[in-house]
Amino acid sequence: MEPENNIPKVFYSNISEKPIENCIICGCSLLENDTQYVIEKAFKDGIVEAEYAMCIDCVENMKGSMSEESMQNIENYIIENRSNMQELLNEFYLSGMDSGLLLKQCAIKGTPVDDLKEYQIAGLFKGRMIDPQVPPYLISMEAAEEINNLLSKKTKDELDNFIDELTGLPPEWLEILKTNKPVLL
Ligand SMILES: [Zn+2]
Repeated sequence: MEPENNIPKVFYSNISEKPIENCIICGCSLLENDTQYVIEKAFKDGIVEAEYAMCIDCVENMKGSMSEESMQNIENYIIENRSNMQELLNEFYLSGMDSGLLLKQCAIKGTPVDDLKEYQIAGLFKGRMIDPQVPPYLISMEAAEEINNLLSKKTKDELDNFIDELTGLPPEWLEILKTNKPVLL
């Protein structure tokens, strides 16, 4: 029997067409343990541009290099823009956690996915299950850019340094991480 799994297929590895198995940074195994981890995928013109999974310890380490100011800016942004998100989440819980609902529009702007040329999806998972603490969401490029602009120069530099100092990663992964940082979680 297949293990219980509610990871939406859109979060599967584009290459293996199966759930992503390892943390991009430390390589730890994500599916067999109860590890919390983030999956991020970026789409452009309907094509997967980037994808990775990162365990919560590595996310926390990375976020450790963000300034107080940047964290506060992001928190304020989310508070200011939460009405659409809140509505989506209500629908999601009422539907019995149909994650497809959350991936139909930008969580921040409400723009339908069909109208978006570029967007990212992300979510928190635990083993083979959605972690309801941070259900899957979709962010349009427009909102991602607004969020990126909330990061101080210092934070951007420190995040980039953090990524540059990761050893043993292929250079294309470093680029993926630099352009798709898990700052929202
Ligand atoms: Zn890790």
